[in-house]
Amino acid sequence: MTARITAQRGTDLRCQGWRQEGLLRMLENVLEVGERPQDLVVYAALGKAARDWPSYERIVAALKRLRDDETLVIQSGKPIGIFKTHPLSPIVIMANCNLVGRWATSDVFYDLEQRGLIAWGGLTAGDWQYIGMQGVIQGTYEVLAAVAREHFNGDLHGRLVLTAGLGGMGSAQPLAAKMVGAVMLVVEVDGDRAAQRVSDGRCDMLAETLDEALERCQQAQQRNEPLSVVLVDNASTVYTELVTRGITPDVVTDQTSAHDLLYGYVPAGMTPQEAAHLRETQPALLEQRALASMVAQVQAMLTLKERGAVVFENGNNIRIQAKRAGVEQAMTIDIFTERYIRPLFCKGIGPFRWLALTGNATDIAVIDDMILEAFAENELVCNWIRLARQYIPFQGLPARIGWLGHGERTRLGLLVNQAVREGRLSGPIAFTRDHLDAGGMAHPYIGTERMLDGSDAIADWPLLNALLNCSAMADLVAIHSGGGGYAGYMTSSGVTLIADGSSEADYRLEHVLNADTGIGVLRYADAGYTIAQDMARTSGLDALNLE
Ligand code: NAD
Repeated sequence: MTARITAQRGTDLRCQGWRQEGLLRMLENVLEVGERPQDLVVYAALGKAARDWPSYERIVAALKRLRDDETLVIQSGKPIGIFKTHPLSPIVIMANCNLVGRWATSDVFYDLEQRGLIAWGGLTAGDWQYIGMQGVIQGTYEVLAAVAREHFNGDLHGRLVLTAGLGGMGSAQPLAAKMVGAVMLVVEVDGDRAAQRVSDGRCDMLAETLDEALERCQQAQQRNEPLSVVLVDNASTVYTELVTRGITPDVVTDQTSAHDLLYGYVPAGMTPQEAAHLRETQPALLEQRALASMVAQVQAMLTLKERGAVVFENGNNIRIQAKRAGVEQAMTIDIFTERYIRPLFCKGIGPFRWLALTGNATDIAVIDDMILEAFAENELVCNWIRLARQYIPFQGLPARIGWLGHGERTRLGLLVNQAVREGRLSGPIAFTRDHLDAGGMAHPYIGTERMLDGSDAIADWPLLNALLNCSAMADLVAIHSGGGGYAGYMTSSGVTLIADGSSEADYRLEHVLNADTGIGVLRYADAGYTIAQDMARTSGLDALNLE
């Protein structure tokens, strides 16, 4: 397959109905906005939309003939069969990359992957929910906003944030920094990618040298002006050099694909091309060198922390890699979820998303207005929508992320479905969310690290979430586990709903959106979080697990 895939726009249907057509467009869309579509890779180095091209073609053909009372079953990106179910069942269910406990290691994963038996779906690649950088950016923004609130009296103007990685997810960082007013220095090892991020406006400028980068950052800090500077270099080298020079940024994190030693992190002193060559010739040596560089980077992060920087991991497992290599102190670095996001998850507030399936950006603007009116009292989401309108370019099918919570998502879903029905939108809207949501993930080093009751590694919760979403009649439900460097580290669930304006869609939206956030609230209530227990009590959830 060589032709670039793009999501179909307009109102012509290729499938039996909008539910199927919507999911097909989302599959096409993840490749349209993905990082290496020729390899079916969407993001995070190896997260794929389908197992291989023959599987992709068969999924497309299946979606085209799939009827409303049938369910397509997909195993790790390969279609397995279509079953007669009933008109309110999900039309697609998936299990991607789930290995039995003792076998859930990266070695087993790569062996199975090379034999064509498994594919990693990332979180939102394999279940066709990824919407590019625009999907992660509010999370990145909310984390920086929380950092500002907790450590800098609510204001990051004049502050320097150091990070690395401008990949699918990481490229949200400079824009999010701009939205909070900070100055950001991003280290990216891939020169082409860095240049592309500047030319597409996600980053303000390229610096030739570290000296130039630091000078430009300092000038912007002195003027209290937001600025993002990208330096083409290796994170390990630059972080270490800053320690040597005695320069301590205010905030330090990293978003290279450090979770994957083989595909995700270029060792110090190498170009991405040299790393790719070593991957072919001496993969074990590449892993060894990548790990050594990560150790140096994490040690630098620890020193910067000691010197007063606010340092946190952004969900790429870099602390874990360093800990495995003997840097015990690595785990003293905070994980962003526990520190900044958990209080929101306790109320079911998390990365809710919607896509305009006809490709009409005006639909997103209409929904923005709807939110500003219907959720006027919700400062978090209204503030976000105003910023998003100003700063965030669309990628692929126009889409928006809005961190709404339990009850709010249902309300928005129903308002939007009514607008589709009344012709105020040009066509159906798909609702989905990140897996890293209140009920959607067990990941003891990201989503569920240091849970109050120690239930970090219990994967029952995302599995129950998926089962419940099937029972509540979602259109697509997926269960994922980690692959590549994430093998054995996590289990999560995904869900998608198509609001096509029908009364049946009202029924689905009401049940699924309530259930999806409701189980999240009860998960945190169960772990002993009082915010979640209060939410469960006041929001009418029929909870059986509260004292
Ligand atoms: P990606 O693979 O698309 O991009 C990684 C980038 O890092 C690439 O541009 C690569 O060139 C660069 N890079 C690699 N090694 C480097 C080095 N040593 N120095 C400087 N740059 C280097 O990955 P992505 O989709 O951007 O995701 C990044 C990480 O964040 C992954 O580990 C992913 O799993 C994790 N993640 C976190 C969240 C979250 O919510 N915080 C969400 C999704 C993904």
